[in-house]
Formats: sequence, C-alpha cells, structure tokens
Amino acid sequence: MTAARREDEVMELARRRGFIWAAFEIYGGASGFFDYGPLGAALKRKIESLWREFYTLGEGFYEIETTTIGIRDVFDASGHLECFMDKMVECKKCHSLFRADHVGERCPDCGGEFSEPQDFNLMFKTRIGAVTSVGGKSEAYLRPETAQGMFVNFPRLLRFHRNKLPFGIIQIGRAYRNEISPRQGIIRLREFTLAEAEVFVLPHEKNKHPRFHEVEDVVMRLKPNYMDEEIEITVKEAVERKIIAHEYLGYHMARVQQFLEKIGIPVERLRFRQHEHDEMAHYAEDCWDAEFLSDRFGWVEIVGIADRGDYDLSAHSRKAKVDMSVPVVTGGEEAEGAREGNENLSVFPHVIEPSYGIDRIIYALLESSFYKEEVRGEVRRVLRFKRCVAPVEVAVLPLLNRKELVNKAKEVFQMIRSHGIFAEYDASGSIGRRYRRQDEIGTPYCVTIDYETLENDTVTIRDRDSMKQVRVSIAELPAKLRGDVESMFTFSR
Ligand code: AMP
Repeated sequence: MTAARREDEVMELARRRGFIWAAFEIYGGASGFFDYGPLGAALKRKIESLWREFYTLGEGFYEIETTTIGIRDVFDASGHLECFMDKMVECKKCHSLFRADHVGERCPDCGGEFSEPQDFNLMFKTRIGAVTSVGGKSEAYLRPETAQGMFVNFPRLLRFHRNKLPFGIIQIGRAYRNEISPRQGIIRLREFTLAEAEVFVLPHEKNKHPRFHEVEDVVMRLKPNYMDEEIEITVKEAVERKIIAHEYLGYHMARVQQFLEKIGIPVERLRFRQHEHDEMAHYAEDCWDAEFLSDRFGWVEIVGIADRGDYDLSAHSRKAKVDMSVPVVTGGEEAEGAREGNENLSVFPHVIEPSYGIDRIIYALLESSFYKEEVRGEVRRVLRFKRCVAPVEVAVLPLLNRKELVNKAKEVFQMIRSHGIFAEYDASGSIGRRYRRQDEIGTPYCVTIDYETLENDTVTIRDRDSMKQVRVSIAELPAKLRGDVESMFTFSR
C-alpha cells in the first residue's frame, strides 16, 4: 500500500467513525480548521489527562489557565509581533499562496512563477471592545503559544512557590497561528491545542537536574545539527559529551520520549532533531524537536523542547518595568557554590520548555496504530490503541438481538459503567460486523452475552489484537477489566 493511500485510509476511517471532521463542513470547510467528533474528543481528553498526570503527579508541577487573548504589550515584549514570521510566496499565475520553504521554484498547482518571498506574520489580530474615535489601545492578539501566560505571571508564581527555584508550571489550551497555506490535515492547523511545561531554573543549575539519574539510561535517537547522521545514545552519554547542552534539557527530552511511548507512539518512529542555528525560534538558545516518522509526511515535529534562556523574563521585565530577576541563591543548597562573593547578585531564571502539539500527537497515534489484514476474505481494519488512550474501553454486545440476551447485556453494561469503566452497548447487526466496528474504533475488549450467560452467568471477553476469547464469570468481570485482562491474553500472542 502506498504511503498516501494508507494515510487517506486512516483519515477516511477517522472521519467515518467520528474522530476528526473538517470544521464548517456544511459550508465547504476552511483549511487549517478541524473539529473532533465524539471519539476524537474522547481520545484527545485521555491524552491530555495522561499528560497532565505525567507532569503534575510525575514532576510536581502546578497547572494554571491563562487567557487565550493577549494584549499587544505581551507580544511586543515576547518578540512575536516582530519575529513570528514565515516567508510567503504567491504564484503570479493562479495567485495561490505558499510557504516559501515548502515549495520549489514553480507553483505545484499550475506551474506558474513565484513572486519574491515576503514576510508574513502568523499572529491573529483582534480588538478588545469598541475603538474610540482616536483609535488606540484596543489592539490584541490570539495567543500563538500558551507559554506567555506563564511568563507574565512569573512574579506571582514565584511567590506561590515561596521564592524557591526551580519550579515548573504547565498549561494545556488552544493556540492560534495564521498558517499561510495549511494543506496537511491536522498536522498544520490554524487553531490547535498545545500542552506546555515551563521549567524555571537558575542558569548555573542547569547542569544538575536532581532526578537525572532516573532517566540517564534512556536511549534516544539524536540528530545533532552539526552531524550528518543520527546516533543512538543514552541521555547520560549525550550530556557528558555535550551533544545535549545540559542535564535539564536531557532530562526533559528523555521525559518527552517516555510520555510518547507511554501513550503508544512506537519508539522506532521517533527521533530528536536539533534545530539548525538559522531555524531556531527567536527566543531559543537551543531547541530539539521530537519528530515522528509519518508514512505520509516523512519526519514531522510533534514536540519541541527548547532552552529559552532568560529571553522571555528579561524581555517582560524591560517592557513592563517589573524586575523579574531573582537572587542568585534562590536555588537553596545546590546554589551554595554560587553564593560566595555573589550575595547581592541577581539573575533572570532560565526556562526549559517541552511544548507538545496534541493534534499532531493524535495524528501520529492514528497513523501508527492503524493496522489492516485479511481475515477469511474480509478486510479487517484495526486501530491498535493502547488501552490507556482507547476512547471506548469495552463494548458490551448481546450475541443476538433477542430480548432475553438484550436484557442481560444491558444489565452487564450498566454494571461495568458503575465501576467507572467507559463502555459502549451495541446490538445492531451481526456479531461479526459489530466486532469489526469495535476493531475500527480501537476498543481493546468486547464482552459478549450469549445463551451460556443465561445458564451460568459467564460471558466471553474478546481481545482486539489476537481476536482470542476467554470466558469469565460476570462477578469477576469488573476486576478483570480493570486489572489483568491483558495478562489473560498475552500467552496467546
Ligand atoms: P513550536 O512552538 O513551533 O515549537 O510548536 C510547538 C508544537 O506545536 C510543535 O511541536 C507542534 O507539535 C505543534 N504545532 C506547531 N504549529 C502547529 C500547527 N500549525 N498545527 C498543529 N500543530 C502545530
């Protein structure tokens, strides 16, 4: 199957089964805008919850929620108004617009010649309130990243953390970028969801992460900007050899890989590519992209991990005239060494930022989970989601649409849900067709109620991937579904 066909098939399935729909479809749609249907929204919510847990429970970071509209001052200070640009070209013949770095010399639509490249600012501009007769202060922008909301609140966040560094803050929310010509489905959107962590740390403490030992043996595939080839290397060695600049960056890159693996992105389709110097965002000192190898699009950035240095805090300090520097010794014991002779020194904390594009992660999951095989002359399409992200965890199916089986199945369905397991009930069509449907939406287990159920209160559990079935008693069903179902099937895989 060609890569393009495979992608079309996944996206066709995603559309048909209610994961992802073109926004405003009845009006013909608008490029760069997509909606999540019932299963897509459930999948997204699960990924976001796992991400939130990973950073709150796992790292001890707090989550905040800031506005999606920002006043001009914020983006003036952050450099986005001046620097958040892409080069754009227009076809002189058909007037299509393209990002200059995405096309060759001629228009791919009509073969026409291009205009000279021009800068295009990706910020969506809006206005707050009515404009006065003398114009003025109402200019505002939709945020292109959630990060600025965390930077402008830094003085309060520092106080909240009792003036102690390091600390981390997370935020999940919508971001808006007026992409020039989005033509890659949910890979390039004009409105999308970011999940970002901002880790504030004193500059001289960046090379000592207190939990580095926990990740030091993680093996990563790296593509540094000064090497032509990729290398596989432990984080420990990469930091020791200065391929990764310091422990904080290394630690967070390893954690990004762990998160992506946890939700089911295959590690063999991941690499970390360091930005070229001329590619780096205006705020970044160093930046690595976690990239997913897509069948359709090649390597696609799904998470960016940047060392933003003191760029943002010093810029906002200047613009707002609020000093956000901190005493050098804020870091406590680890900063002892820096204390000598530095009693009155203050510095701006540096920021390490893993920035996850949730929509691209969803695309990567759909593409890498999609699996197709022929079973008895019929095509079986499966989304092999890990259970932790599967939108529907269990389907409850009466073998036949007969009253006695339906009643029992509904009882089992209610019972499973009362145990906090998200289940779907389906009685329409043949059992084979219903299994196929559950395979297509990635449901890991189907519970089937048959005539034996009525006799001895047992049901079958069918495993999506092996298609094997085991029989268990209804009484032990919730515990099995919550805990050890997987182990019941692993012997047969
Ligand atoms: P950046 O701040 O440009 O590094 O973006 C952070 C993350 O957001 C990237 O790793 C992508 O996963 C995601 N992202 C950036 N631009 C878009 C877009 N136009 N559509 C969807 N996701 C995006």
